Parts: sequence; structure tokens; C-alpha cells
Amino acid sequence: MQELEKRWNQIQQRIQHACHRVGRNPAEVNVVAVTKYVDLHKTRQVLDAGCLHIGESRVQNAVPKWQELHDRGTWHMIGHLQRNKAKEVVGRFSYLHSLESIELAKEIEKRAKPISAKMKCFIQVNVSGEETKFGISPEELEDFAIEMANFSSIEVVGLMTMAPNVENRDEIRSVFRSLKEYQHRLQMKQFPHVPMTELSMGMSQDFEIAIEEGATWVRLGSILVGE
Ligand SMILES: *Cc1c(COP(=O)(O)O)cnc(C)c1O
Repeated sequence: MQELEKRWNQIQQRIQHACHRVGRNPAEVNVVAVTKYVDLHKTRQVLDAGCLHIGESRVQNAVPKWQELHDRGTWHMIGHLQRNKAKEVVGRFSYLHSLESIELAKEIEKRAKPISAKMKCFIQVNVSGEETKFGISPEELEDFAIEMANFSSIEVVGLMTMAPNVENRDEIRSVFRSLKEYQHRLQMKQFPHVPMTELSMGMSQDFEIAIEEGATWVRLGSILVGE
């Protein structure tokens, strides 16, 4: 068996085990294969191995790959998106995991509306309050979600966060647990364009914790395509 298929199978097993520990159905957990580290050839192999959700974080690297491979999978922009790059992503990528300003929402709406494109977005939340992190603060979350009523091209499917880069697993867990609470609260409110059914959290180092805390999308790069 090819190395990629082997890794993909191992990941599926670890997802199943994490789900069983907390009584979740593994079918609820989707994997975004993060291919930002690798070239077109390797990205094609990732698709061949059966990973059909592709995650990229740099527009200039992502678009040439998208042009070659877009009919093979579903494309996710997971990294910080500059406003002036939104036009490259709208109409091509199905998901944006890093919606974190009204200005960016406006730009997406402006580009999407004329071509009747829809963008499924996760609001990126800076749960831990680290200054170096993108994302809106938990305090601003509800007002932000209310504003989404003005953007008919955007569907806020859920929340996204990145755990702090720390050794302490409890600290990581508490960040994921908080995101789940924010999601639950917003889901109850049923704001227009904010179905809020999803949670994008967990990367190679912490995806099992994220699954135990309710992730429906994990974003896996190095564990799948790393050295
Ligand atoms: C790079 C990246 C990932 C994947 O990280 P790994 O630790 O390699 O799995 C996930 N999410 C975002 C936003 C990233 O930029």
C-alpha cells in the first residue's frame, strides 16, 4: 500500500477511536487534508488516496492547484485571507475557515453576489486571546453573527479556532470546549445566514482532543503529507 493511503487509514482509525471514547459517530467528523506544504503532484496523490476535502492557506499557491484539480474535490481556504485576495477565492473555494472581519465579509459579498456564488464560512475565534492570533474575540461573537444577516452570499456554517501552541493538553482541551459552548449558544439563536452546525478545530497535534470536544472538521497537514 502507498504511504499516503497508509497514513490516511491510520488517521481514520484514530478518528474512530476518539469518537468511540466519547460516544460520537465517526461519520460526523470530516477531514480537510491540508496541502499547503506540498506541490501539485503530491496534492493530486492526496486526492487519489481518497481525501476529497483539500485545505490551502496561501491564495497564490492554492489557485494554480485549484485550476488543475478543482473538479476532483472540495476546496477549503483555511488561512488568513486578505481582503484584496477575496476575489481569487470566491466562486472557486466552497469553504472559508477564517472569516474574521466585517470588511472581509463585505468583500466576499461584493464578489460573490454578481456571480451568484455562495461561500460557506466559519467564523474564526481567538479563544485564547493571544495577540498574535487572528480571529474575533468571544465577546464580539454574537454581534458579529447578527451582522451576517446583511450578507446573503455567506452562510456561516460554524466556528473555527486554532489551539495555543502549548504542551499542556488540558489548556488545549479547554479552548476547544469553549468553542463548542459558543457554537451551541449561537446555534440556539438561529440568526439569519448562521446555521452554526459545524466546528472546525484540531490539527495534527491535537485533533483527537478536538474530536472528543465536538469537532466536525479537523484540518490535518503534517500528519498526512509531512516528512
Ligand atoms: C497549516 C494549518 C493546519 C494544518 O496544520 P498541521 O499541524 O500540519 O496539521 C491547520 N489549520 C490551519 C489554519 C493551518 O494554517
